[in-house]
Amino acid sequence: MKVRTRFAPSPTGFLHIGGARTALFSWLFARKHGGDFVLRIEDTDIQRSTIESVNAILEGMNWLGLDYDEGPIHQTERMGRYKEVIERLLDEGKAYYCYCSKERLDAMREEQRARGEKPRYDGRCRHRKGPPPAGVDPVVRFKNPQEGEVVVEDAVRGTVTFANQELDDLIIARSDGTPTYNLTVVVDDLDMGMTHVIRGDDHLNNTPRQINILRALGEQPPIYGHVPMILGPDGKRLSKRHGAMSVMEYHNEGFLPEAVLNYLVRLGWSHGDQEVFDLDEMVEHFELEAVNRAASTFNTEKLLWLNQQHMMRSRPEHLARHLSWHLGNLGIDPEREGPSAARVAETLRERSKTLKELAESGAYFFRDFEAYDEKAAKKHFRGPALNALEHLYERLAAVEDWQAGILGDVVKAVCEELELKMPKVALPLRVAVTGTSFSPSIDLTLELIGREKTLARLGRAIDFMKSQQGG
Ligand code: GLU
Repeated sequence: MKVRTRFAPSPTGFLHIGGARTALFSWLFARKHGGDFVLRIEDTDIQRSTIESVNAILEGMNWLGLDYDEGPIHQTERMGRYKEVIERLLDEGKAYYCYCSKERLDAMREEQRARGEKPRYDGRCRHRKGPPPAGVDPVVRFKNPQEGEVVVEDAVRGTVTFANQELDDLIIARSDGTPTYNLTVVVDDLDMGMTHVIRGDDHLNNTPRQINILRALGEQPPIYGHVPMILGPDGKRLSKRHGAMSVMEYHNEGFLPEAVLNYLVRLGWSHGDQEVFDLDEMVEHFELEAVNRAASTFNTEKLLWLNQQHMMRSRPEHLARHLSWHLGNLGIDPEREGPSAARVAETLRERSKTLKELAESGAYFFRDFEAYDEKAAKKHFRGPALNALEHLYERLAAVEDWQAGILGDVVKAVCEELELKMPKVALPLRVAVTGTSFSPSIDLTLELIGREKTLARLGRAIDFMKSQQGG
């Protein structure tokens, strides 16, 4: 049988880290088994669902590269089908109308609590005889089996057993006729031919109810895999106060999507002691059985480390494609100005943890910086620096073949001529052309900045130093 998995977010916000990990596990499982991955939008809660959230989820999936074979399928377009199933269950005596008022239910729960019992519906309308009370819009409840147990053979958690006595007759249609979550999920997983339901373990308690409804419909349940939650460093469930929650914030902060995926897959799953995985490796090695049962803790440092690992492994062109977006955020269009973004990326990646950092620290390759780093200028624009820069200007202006090797020779020649050690020449030069005292090797830096900009910046530095020295 062809494997079919799904990701079924409720569109009530952006795609967050936890949702993305659930989506990734479902996606990986489908891809590993040559199956299908379906995106389903669970938007029946009309009050809380928004089109902006649907878009935000699609945007997140798209950025991560979690492509789906079917969907997005909106539950709101399947209302007729849910109604049909609710009517069938009513007709077959597997569901019933419940007329109990809110006041009665509240009082009942209060009493149960006072007796130290778990609040649950007492089943009054299950046995109701005679005509229905007038003027009440009833809800529909599913007749949950009253005996026996539901055994969930969970692909992640192992065997989990629920006593039917613990499960009351849940509402499958509200008094306005709209279906509830447990009903829509069952109908969809069935109609969409899901073989594996991989989702957060906050849904584990729903699973026996869903299995009972499926059985009432004469169907076999799929295989379930419940993924444990993600905790913040303080051991509490991951939330906004722990920092960025939306996947797209990681985009903005300069992470590569493959690094985020790598981080998410390792959050609760392992394959030996391998840390860095490319997508193909994740697909190859992923096993539901190897997903941890315990919750995992989010760790930003590790995500940064993985991002750097992926930046180092990327083809420069691939890195450049992502870097261009961050350069664009700084108002730089690498297609129009400066050296190739791929070369800049390759040159700077060792010293940057994110693409945003890389773009910011490499902006000088593309456009003039505004001011010198104050400390750097103070330290290196003094003593023999002015003379060195003037010599460099003259010699560099005469270079025709603007490449690192030749440029490096020019810098060396100036050192020899002025009898200065390399740093005495290279550091003022670096401050002059980059504004700071940190950059890749000076010859490569000059090559990438280019002839015109190098000479203009040397001229500017010379003027600056002269004005500092009182003109
Ligand atoms: N819509 C549910 C949620 O966002 C997921 C339901 C499921 O995966 O079964 O939590």
